[in-house]
Amino acid sequence: MRLGSGTFAACCVVIEVLGVALFLRGFFPAPVRSSSRTEHQAEPPAPEPSTGASSNWTKLPPPLFSKVVIMLIDALRDDFVFGSKGVKFMPYTTYLVEKGASHSFVAEAKPPTVTMPRIKALMTGSLPGFIDVVRNLNSPALLEDNVITQAKAAGKRMIFYGDETWVKLFPQHFVEYDGTTSFFVSDYTEVDDNVTRHLDKVLKRGDWDVLILHYLGLDHIGHISGPSSPLIGHKLSEMDNILMKIHTSLLSEERENLSPNLLVLCGDHGMSETGSHGASSMEEVNTPLILISSAFERKPGDIRHPKHVQQTDLAATLAIGLGLPIPENSVGSLLFPSIEGRPVREQLRFLHLNAVQLSKLLQENVPSYKKEPGFEQFKMAERLHGNWIRLYLEESTSEVLFNLGTKVRRQYLDALRTLSLSLSRQVAQYDIYSMLVGTVMVLENPAHPNSRWSELDVVILLGTMGHVLSLGASSFIEEEHQTWYFLVNTLCLALCHEIYRNCFLGDDCEPRRCSHGERGFVNTAPALQDRSIGHDELEPHRASKSPTSLNTLRGWEKWMAMASPWVILTCCRLLRSLNQTGVQWAHRPDLGHWLTSSDHKAELSVLAALSLIMIFALVQRRCSLTSKVAMALGLLGVYCYRAAIGNVLFPWQRDSKDISKGLIEARFVHVFVLGILFTGTKDLLKSQVIAADFTIKTVGLWEIYSGLVLLAALLFRPHNLPVLVFSLLIQTIMTKFIWKPLRHDAAEITVMHYWFGQAFFYFQGNSNNIATVDISAGFVGLDTYVEVPAVFLTAFATFAGPVLWASHLVSFLSSETSSGSALSHACFCYALICSFPVSAYIILVTSLRYHLFIWSVFSPKLLYEGMHILITAAICVFFTAMDQTNTKS
Ligand SMILES: [Zn+2]
Ligand SMILES: [Zn+2]
Repeated sequence: MRLGSGTFAACCVVIEVLGVALFLRGFFPAPVRSSSRTEHQAEPPAPEPSTGASSNWTKLPPPLFSKVVIMLIDALRDDFVFGSKGVKFMPYTTYLVEKGASHSFVAEAKPPTVTMPRIKALMTGSLPGFIDVVRNLNSPALLEDNVITQAKAAGKRMIFYGDETWVKLFPQHFVEYDGTTSFFVSDYTEVDDNVTRHLDKVLKRGDWDVLILHYLGLDHIGHISGPSSPLIGHKLSEMDNILMKIHTSLLSEERENLSPNLLVLCGDHGMSETGSHGASSMEEVNTPLILISSAFERKPGDIRHPKHVQQTDLAATLAIGLGLPIPENSVGSLLFPSIEGRPVREQLRFLHLNAVQLSKLLQENVPSYKKEPGFEQFKMAERLHGNWIRLYLEESTSEVLFNLGTKVRRQYLDALRTLSLSLSRQVAQYDIYSMLVGTVMVLENPAHPNSRWSELDVVILLGTMGHVLSLGASSFIEEEHQTWYFLVNTLCLALCHEIYRNCFLGDDCEPRRCSHGERGFVNTAPALQDRSIGHDELEPHRASKSPTSLNTLRGWEKWMAMASPWVILTCCRLLRSLNQTGVQWAHRPDLGHWLTSSDHKAELSVLAALSLIMIFALVQRRCSLTSKVAMALGLLGVYCYRAAIGNVLFPWQRDSKDISKGLIEARFVHVFVLGILFTGTKDLLKSQVIAADFTIKTVGLWEIYSGLVLLAALLFRPHNLPVLVFSLLIQTIMTKFIWKPLRHDAAEITVMHYWFGQAFFYFQGNSNNIATVDISAGFVGLDTYVEVPAVFLTAFATFAGPVLWASHLVSFLSSETSSGSALSHACFCYALICSFPVSAYIILVTSLRYHLFIWSVFSPKLLYEGMHILITAAICVFFTAMDQTNTKS
């Protein structure tokens, strides 16, 4: 029996992991990739097409620019340059855009609008896929074909100053570099001065071909104070002056060398109205892209609305500008204005090279590429191009040549646009088939194909999935409490629906109940069929109880059952207003602040006293007499402790002049906590000696649970005592009117406990920010700082919500079923549902380890999750061990 259950559990995990992997594979589609080797030097460039007379132009065209400077300003939003801010703070740039020899575009970045993926997109011209995430786990260096690697292979000397992400992506590519770390978001001056201090020297030297500058200050200002901060204007002026310095220097150098240089001004992503980035709002996605070169024609003031292009178009443009092959995975099309001034033959040659590269990528990724309109347009353009070359070499009249040239060019541009579009779309297409199969595998696992899915199961599944996916965005982590409040409310509504249907339609509409676990189990693990693990193993209530439903409840109980979801919803609403948490709205006034202010001490005292009485009323029912007395004295001690340290008042004591540390009172309570825990453990051990004495075991578990409640009451600040009351109240209501009458299975009850535990974590006022940990809990009853108890008490106080719900789950399940394996099944379920977000999160954090928020948002969250999983594991191991020995004896 034991072995069978364990193997079943292992099978469940394997199937679930496979399902999740398959789902992710579909969700993050394979990137559009070229199959040719990474060493591409061997491959010769496509020759110029020709019909009849053979062309002699087979080599790559020479570079258009002798020097290229890329000035990347992190989080430069399009309106910072093209809008009113640009006119005001960036006069030189505005002059260049409107009257200078430049081409301006609004480059659209694809989400995630985070620095590293954006740098990759700028330099490779490709969009990242799932494979890249996996491939990047062990090597931060960019392995994919890109402009920087090509430039290095061509012997270009490159210099880099700025965000050190570049140095990690392109190790050993720069002859000289100075990387600045972006961890200190509060610094927006030093990060940029670190870049600028090299400029004077490097601009005077002639020993480089490519200079890349990545300025972080603007992004940091955005994170600190948002896009409308006055600091933004200062920073833009600073950037404008730097651009002027570089441009002037490049112009004076050109006068000596007589070959044009190129200056690129761009952003990696924009910033939202709150100053963050990562998502796909217009403000985060649109960045300016300005190409400045004396090779371009001056155009008088016609660029007020720059053309929208893709960020990925820059890679192909830079490759052509530097005389390099276009990166093989680039989906971008050459920004045509940059080659407009060249002779027609050269223009067509460049367009042809780009079209050949894109159509090759299309051939390798789309089986039916021949039917793609882009490919047909390309073939047509290539044919016309051949004709044009023949005419050109035969020296036809210039008018015919010119007309045909215009036609070929238009044909090429159309082909490039269509090819680029269908390749980009290829990346965005989710592999629905994989996603479906993956989802079905995960679903099949706990359930059974023939059994009907209740709304509740769907809510649970979608909620779990949705929560895991939401962890990918930093703002969802910052405001995670909203996710859990939403999930718990949705759960209440689903329960409400189930109760009402049950009440009005009766029992017979619930056929799923009789086949839920058993056959599903047989289907997923047919090899275990003969091990005779059946009904009672996984169905704690169904087997041990006669089929009852809400109809068996007496009249008033039925009404109570129908009202219970609404009572729970009301409780949750009240708890929400007790503590504001998260980041965005944490500063808003809440009930907790009102209660803790010194003017409302009397109100707080009444509330605390009432709460303690309620706690006693709710928790004492299932304990033995000794524990009841200990509990009452303990709760009285809690009030005395809070009065002693001056949090609350005694009715007879109006002024609080003698405030002590409350050591005696707190230690008094600690003694009772230990006493109750000891009694509980003793009962548990006794139940093992007297085999199958079920009631003693149950009482023991409930006593341990009430001991934990008493400890939480001691550690919680007085204004948070209602959190404890509501937690106990909801548990009582759910037990009496929902879980028992509706006969939910162990898995469903487990998930509900987990969800409520998570919601209560935030009701307590916790957040994913380390700052909300209440360290004072670690000093309750301690004279000085003693590490082990202090850490234990702080951890318990922080995770009291999830811990109390988890221990309620154990006590509830073991009191409801005589079969011990339902309990281990539930423990397993609980551990699984806890570890699922954690493992997803670990993968995420690893892949985002260069993200700017890694220290401020993602790492604290990981710490919290780590603590949570540790506590969960401890609970599961403890009870499973108890259970195991119990069954064996
Ligand atoms: Zn950035
Ligand atoms: Zn940023």
